[in-house]
Amino acid sequence: MKAAFLTAPETLELRDIPAPTAPEGGLVLQVRACGICGSDLRRWREGPPPGVGGVVPGHEAAGVVIATDEQCRRFKVGDYLAIAPDIHCGTCYYCRREKYNLCDNLRFVGITPGFPGGFAEQMAITAEVIENGIIHPMSEGLSFAHAALSEPSCSVLATQEKAGTQAGDVVVIIGAGPTGCLHVAVARSRGAKVIVVQRSKTRQELVRRFDPDLVIDATAEDVIARVREFTHGLGADIVICANPVAETQRQAVDMVRKAGKVLLFGGLPKADPMTTLDGNKIHYGEVEVIGAFSYHPRVHEEALHLLAKGTLPAEKVITHQLPLDQINEAYQTAATGKALKVLISLEKE
Ligand SMILES: [Zn+2]
Ligand SMILES: [Zn+2]
Repeated sequence: MKAAFLTAPETLELRDIPAPTAPEGGLVLQVRACGICGSDLRRWREGPPPGVGGVVPGHEAAGVVIATDEQCRRFKVGDYLAIAPDIHCGTCYYCRREKYNLCDNLRFVGITPGFPGGFAEQMAITAEVIENGIIHPMSEGLSFAHAALSEPSCSVLATQEKAGTQAGDVVVIIGAGPTGCLHVAVARSRGAKVIVVQRSKTRQELVRRFDPDLVIDATAEDVIARVREFTHGLGADIVICANPVAETQRQAVDMVRKAGKVLLFGGLPKADPMTTLDGNKIHYGEVEVIGAFSYHPRVHEEALHLLAKGTLPAEKVITHQLPLDQINEAYQTAATGKALKVLISLEKE
């Protein structure tokens, strides 16, 4: 079977490797769709971890079970499944408190060496992934492409839950990439007014299909003044930083209202993670600055339902679908910022 290996910075190599057999207690998934995540792009730019020959990336996968081990009880051949990356240990301080996304020993399908991901025709799913990972049957009527969006949707849903977004709120989303756009859709579905802050002209246009109330061009406008103006001087109730830029975190604290919430949803580059925030605005204004990373496994089921219902508009988020042998083009397309979600599609006719 074909599998794409990240072998060097910005280089994926398509190799022919033996098809996997079902691991003990596990199964083999024939991959039908797998999305390229912003974090995949970050690792693509950095290259594989040192000392590792190559990693098969891809953690936003959906497909059909084509083989199971006899010890595999939860799923059977023919099941349509969606998979998300986190594998928790089940025994650490956080796992014992069901805070699985904060597990001290978290490993990730398509990221951690030894857990090959979805940019391959087939992937072996171990018993451990079935037990402690995130894998759910696709909701009735959901396409593989849309099911592959369940993973990025989860972190968005969990973050909006944390923010407590509700009707009447003004929510600012900084960064209109695929997850930024999903944030717009989810905040709107919760009845909030949404302001998008974005630099790229292409993405300013793309985000309009999600019906934001205001799009601010960060290259030409005074972002903080515009948010203040929109909120009659008050400031936003919630600001979500959905990009990897430290400077916008500082701006977020400057545009949120007193007792408002700033959610740090996007990770910063590994080599440069420091950020500067106005401590007095946080102190005197009782601003809450909240980290948001990953989600409880149950959110994955919810995302699949919301995608099937259309509450999460998958068709508006997916702008490109390419076959596996165009994996390099797919990454390059995703990296231009001119696309929203780019999927590798392995649909069989
Ligand atoms: Zn992802
Ligand atoms: Zn743990």
